[in-house]
Amino acid sequence: NADLALHTAKADGRSTFRFYEHSMRLAAEKRHIMTLELRQALNEGQFELYYQPIFTLADDSISGFEALIRWRHPQRGMISPAEFIPVAEETGLIAGIGQWVLREACMTAARWPKSVKISVNLSPAQFGQAGLLDSVMTALEEAGLEPHRLELEITESVFLSNSRQNIQLLYSLRELGVRIAMDDFGTGYSSLSYLRSFPFDKIKIDRSFVSGIEVDTRNLAIIQAVAVLGAGFNIITTAEGVETAQQLHRLKNEQFGEVQGFLTGRPMPASEVETFISEKGRVFLSARD
Ligand code: C2E
Ligand code: MG
Ligand code: MG
Ligand code: MG
Repeated sequence: NADLALHTAKADGRSTFRFYEHSMRLAAEKRHIMTLELRQALNEGQFELYYQPIFTLADDSISGFEALIRWRHPQRGMISPAEFIPVAEETGLIAGIGQWVLREACMTAARWPKSVKISVNLSPAQFGQAGLLDSVMTALEEAGLEPHRLELEITESVFLSNSRQNIQLLYSLRELGVRIAMDDFGTGYSSLSYLRSFPFDKIKIDRSFVSGIEVDTRNLAIIQAVAVLGAGFNIITTAEGVETAQQLHRLKNEQFGEVQGFLTGRPMPASEVETFISEKGRVFLSARD
């Protein structure tokens, strides 16, 4: 009997291992297919940018839009960046995709009123690639966009590896006149020290702190602290993921700088932005040319 039990256990172990091996191989295959498809997507123009408005609370004007990438897959329909950006980062394809995003976003924003800025997300892997500075300069030049209208959003993870080199690069980008925002603030590691290591123009507090500020006093305390921090550092504060009027009200009370979220505007295709600006934004006419 003991013999039989041992035998069964061994068989179980083997099959568990085989199952593990099998699912690993499946995952690798899926990644491989996606890599080929991503390359094709870039060549065939399957990527699109959606734009989500960001409002200044002091005067309810539109401060800018954040460009958010979408993949219109020929068979699977719209795929979210959360699904393919990590694969693009692992395989180095993020360089090409990121360059496309920068060019497309700058070209689109160049058609908007001059008071409206454009924010572009940079993934940490783009910092490892040579030529990021060149991509940014080329995108601005081609579009004829004034550098101060471009804002680059980075996350804390940019500081985790090659931080000296990356901070140098941030300063070079800043010298071009572009603005640098810290995205998803509060979700990474020791974010406060990063605020000291680079003079950010903006901090975007992650939406996990915004949700529930109506009822959760601890989230509210964090929001209040970030507002004070922003004022002390002379940095614009932006709240992400604002979904309710109550949240908006609270953020106004705490003197937050800007809001972005489904309440004030969902991400929209480029074709809808100009209408949105003329209907919803109190854009100052003097800023138009
Ligand atoms: P993120 O930069 O923090 O962008 C904000 C995300 O929150 C977007 O998701 C947006 O659609 C979503 N969002 C906005 N308002 C609300 C709200 O009120 N409620 C909720 N629940 N969600 C809201 P999305 O478009 O799926 O993008 C996810 C992430 O993918 C982005 O997070 C960003 O890190 C990354 N990403 C998007 N586009 C690009 C890109 O062009 N390049 C790179 N490297 N990353 C990108
Ligand atoms: Mg962002
Ligand atoms: Mg964000
Ligand atoms: Mg986020």
